[in-house]
Amino acid sequence: MAALLQKTVDEVKKDMDEVGVPYNPDIPIFISERYSRALGKCYYQTRDNKRIATKIGISKEIIDYGDWDLIRNVICHELIHSADDCVYCYHGGVWKVYADKMNRYKNYHISRITHVPDEMHEHYNNYHFIIECQGCHTKSYFQRSTKTVEAVKKGQKTIKCKKCGSKDFKVIER
Ligand SMILES: [Zn+2]
Ligand SMILES: [Zn+2]
Repeated sequence: MAALLQKTVDEVKKDMDEVGVPYNPDIPIFISERYSRALGKCYYQTRDNKRIATKIGISKEIIDYGDWDLIRNVICHELIHSADDCVYCYHGGVWKVYADKMNRYKNYHISRITHVPDEMHEHYNNYHFIIECQGCHTKSYFQRSTKTVEAVKKGQKTIKCKKCGSKDFKVIER
């Protein structure tokens, strides 16, 4: 999962470079299990009277849920917060200018929304088993442990992905 996050981060940075939207290139990005409803957070510190971004956390809930369009939008939202000229902006000023630029030229849907949408949150909490295709990362949700879930847990290649044909699946631990 960390590799997939890194891949998405690299893609987002490439998109930002292409339209000239700045970010802190060295900022570490990690998956946080501690956010109740926050999608992501950009952390700051003040050094020599200057505010700088130090790290970005992305909610494990949205990573597990697997809506990659939302994930890339959240990564981009937080990366814009990390830019030197955005550290005091919150969701206004140049932050908004940069977000609009990504939406307009790179087909992002960055908004000021900072919390997991209700519908997604309820869905996530009602389904306790998630199976992920290792080929295309499509997820399937189960309310209880089924034969399919058990087979995947045991490493049996009994199901095939309808999207990419892969037989390699993983149960995501909640
Ligand atoms: Zn924000
Ligand atoms: Zn697949």
